[in-house]
Amino acid sequence: MHELTITESLLEIALRHAREAGATKITDLYLVIGQLSSVVDESVQFYWDIIAKDTPAEGALLHFQRIPTEIICLNCNNQYKPVDNQMACPRCDSISIKIISGEEFFLEAINVETD
Ligand SMILES: [Zn+2]
Repeated sequence: MHELTITESLLEIALRHAREAGATKITDLYLVIGQLSSVVDESVQFYWDIIAKDTPAEGALLHFQRIPTEIICLNCNNQYKPVDNQMACPRCDSISIKIISGEEFFLEAINVETD
């Protein structure tokens, strides 16, 4: 039910922006999702179609942009993108690492129509 909660808050944000902009219809939502985030595009789309029904956001297109995972090694400062989910540093094998990107999930932009 993770995605349902997320989708509900997306809709809430989108509708609020549309109201503030005096828009009658929301046409597009641009979402940014980190590779490591557990959010599944299809689930968000699935819930969206249900909960956006009969709102100005009905039929809006959801665009998903995936952000690749990036890690910095705290041992040798090596910065890398993990391959095959191998999170350990490829240079020194350390697992003392920090995730720089890949966990984000946010709404980047909304397109609306006004009459
Ligand atoms: Zn390292």
